[in-house]
Amino acid sequence: MEGPVRVRFAPSPTGALHIGGAHTALFNWLWARHTGGQFILRIEDTDLQRSTKEFEETILAGMNWLGLDWDEGPDIGGPCLFYRQSERQDLYREHANRLLETGMAYREGEAVIFRVPQGVEISFDDVVYGRVNVMSETLKDIVLMKSDGMPTYNYAVVVDDATMGINMVIRGEDHISNTPKQLLLYDALGFGRPNFGHLPMILGTDKKKLSKRHGATSVYEYRDMGYLPDAVFNFLALLGWCPRDGREVFSREEAAKLFEIQRVTKRAAVFDIDKLNFINQEHVKALPKMERLEMTLPFWKDISMPVDCHSPAYLADALELMEGRGQTLKRMAEFSDYFLSFDVVKNRYDGSALDEAKKPVLRRFYKELLEIDPWKAEAMEALARNWGETEGIALKEIAMPLRYMLTGGKVSPGIFHVAELLGREELKCRLAHYGMA
Ligand code: GLU
Repeated sequence: MEGPVRVRFAPSPTGALHIGGAHTALFNWLWARHTGGQFILRIEDTDLQRSTKEFEETILAGMNWLGLDWDEGPDIGGPCLFYRQSERQDLYREHANRLLETGMAYREGEAVIFRVPQGVEISFDDVVYGRVNVMSETLKDIVLMKSDGMPTYNYAVVVDDATMGINMVIRGEDHISNTPKQLLLYDALGFGRPNFGHLPMILGTDKKKLSKRHGATSVYEYRDMGYLPDAVFNFLALLGWCPRDGREVFSREEAAKLFEIQRVTKRAAVFDIDKLNFINQEHVKALPKMERLEMTLPFWKDISMPVDCHSPAYLADALELMEGRGQTLKRMAEFSDYFLSFDVVKNRYDGSALDEAKKPVLRRFYKELLEIDPWKAEAMEALARNWGETEGIALKEIAMPLRYMLTGGKVSPGIFHVAELLGREELKCRLAHYGMA
């Protein structure tokens, strides 16, 4: 089939948008955007029992969150008019009747069944998996319409893809075994065949098919854990594909430019959360400062941090200092709580670990520190070094207690940078609480 690429994502609205579905949607989107073609969204809601409007809405919202926009769909319409299978019943009946008239299908009660011809070799060249051959003898007759009047998946998908002008079918590898049946129907109905590209399976790190056992499966769970949509997009794009130059961190636009469906591998892809964490951290670091703040605020609020007591500039500076530590926005918000509240520090650290013998010398140091001018991390560090040398005390021994008293923990960005941002007054107040100022 000639003409611009027309691909589609055809979810069943029987659950939230899962990683596997998002992956399929994303690869369709990439191919459409790379080629300047069209990406169509079709809702496969023939399972009346399990399909709901709410699930349809969350799937659309999940795609929006990931930045996967579609050119035609149930919400925005398009030249095909109907983008839900439940609205396309007439078409399924009409084409089933054609097959009944020519004798290629027969009735069994209310159901309509396609008679699989014998001795036919069905083959297709999958863009990802290569050539697939199946002898028709291995296939049973195919139910087209069930006795309840609803079409089956294998039949409806053919009528829809053909009548919607889909010329490239990109979907999960679990549908390879359905493809020969669908090809028989294309041929019987006189429809031109589309091209096919099946995407590799996604596995957990234990090499088993990705499932709930491996952790979060819905895209929204990743949002709620503090992953950026750009990062989840980036990570999903790397499941079965990578740009020619091997780069691992890229934007949506770059991915669309670099994507080649021919370079998708059939090797199963492993969902590696460490990699997602790394990619997320890179995207967090690359965010414009105020946007990073905007995205982190909800996570601070979730843990009851008094965000309104601080200026946006101060909070944005704090996040800048964090340099993506924690990898997700949620953990970054947790790890940086001491910038917003001294109470959390007091709860974590009671000061009992301060070495009594060292207190006098530390007090003298902190006194000088509090008077330093200009109030700059570099000046503080220089002071600490000089002090260390003259007093014979290692920088670490000065910095570590300070870190505990300011943050309540033993890991933080450079402690003098933390001190600089907290400000002279706040530093004094925190040290005083521990009897050190
Ligand atoms: N509704 C089917 C699914 O979710 C679509 C499969 C296809 O793309 O053909 O698996």
